[in-house]
Amino acid sequence: MANKKIHLCLAHMSGNEQRFIDEAFADNWVVPLGPNVDGFEEDLKGFLTTADPKAAGKEVAAVSAGTAAIHLALVLLGVTRDDEVICQSFTFAASANPVTYQGATPVFVDSEPGSWNMSPELLDEAIADRVAKTGRKPKAIVVVHLYGMPAMMDEILAVAEKWGIPVVEDAAEALGSAYKGRKCGTLGHYGILSFNGNKMITTSGGGALVCPDQESKRRSVFFSTQAREPFPYYQHEHIGYNYRMSNISAGIGRGQMTILDQHIAHHRNLAKLYKELFDSIEGIDFHANPTNAQDSNYWLNTIIIDPEKTGITPEDVRQHLAALDIETRPLWKPMHLQPVFASAPAYTNGVSEHLFERGLCLPSGPWVTTDDIKTIVHEIKKCIRN
Ligand SMILES: *Cc1c(COP(=O)(O)O)cnc(C)c1O
Repeated sequence: MANKKIHLCLAHMSGNEQRFIDEAFADNWVVPLGPNVDGFEEDLKGFLTTADPKAAGKEVAAVSAGTAAIHLALVLLGVTRDDEVICQSFTFAASANPVTYQGATPVFVDSEPGSWNMSPELLDEAIADRVAKTGRKPKAIVVVHLYGMPAMMDEILAVAEKWGIPVVEDAAEALGSAYKGRKCGTLGHYGILSFNGNKMITTSGGGALVCPDQESKRRSVFFSTQAREPFPYYQHEHIGYNYRMSNISAGIGRGQMTILDQHIAHHRNLAKLYKELFDSIEGIDFHANPTNAQDSNYWLNTIIIDPEKTGITPEDVRQHLAALDIETRPLWKPMHLQPVFASAPAYTNGVSEHLFERGLCLPSGPWVTTDDIKTIVHEIKKCIRN
């Protein structure tokens, strides 16, 4: 039986991307600005803010990567050397790395078991402890919607407001997810999106910074284009970055926006089927929306495997499926367990470590079919020993 390989999440083109790229070539807009950059920003703004009066006024700046967007947010919030920035521990390293680009120190906060994202209680404790120990408040809070699952934003924003600390919302994996009907990326002071090859949509590589207003967008474009002052010659009064998105990448992005809704619907349909099939399997929990407030895009579908009840580990399942050319992956390894962040302060409760030991990401992209899912769940069932 020679099956096709089933990937975790593979990019999928609509066919419209080529038209925008051809236009850019025809008009010689092969530079990091131009009609596709402007058009892509407008498309994203429309997607994020239409039908949400609370998001009115938000602006989007397209940049070269999600990581660059996080870095810019920290620059705009004035994070510098000797500052501390709170960051969700259970995430991809790109959420925390930009803190160190500024010479600041990440302080990691563990998750709550419902959404798997930052625990609001632990966040509050961590801030109180940092203030007691250092005499200063952390400068920003980076909260993540991991695997597309919205964090407990009301509670987190309440803690942030109580202490007067701005929130950077890492929605790299959560384009299309919603919290209480509002799009992820618009809930924090700044929001960031990623269009890397394996995300909800791709520009081959790219990201966006969701800004609170025109002025902060103007400043993010300023910093992402080498901080050039408005003089006829090159005058610099700040350190800038080369972070603007290319007009070619943005052309791919405009094409991808034409199928974003379809992608999200497909991911959610796959999640529904996974959930149905796993509901009847003792010892395997599908990670579904924990409350009605959360509406995940199910970027990656994930499960938790109980080794006592099933007699197997996630690694057993990963190897069994890999032999069948089905790609799976362990969950993100928490940042407080990473050697590179060994000296960073961390406030932990065991939740992310538990998830890391027992979790597995399953194929979820636009190329995965309902038949693939039936095969995957069937094969996982075959592994179970107890
Ligand atoms: C992908 C990702 C990023 C970084 O985005 P890039 O576009 O790859 O730089 C940041 N945070 C999280 C949670 C991500 O998954």
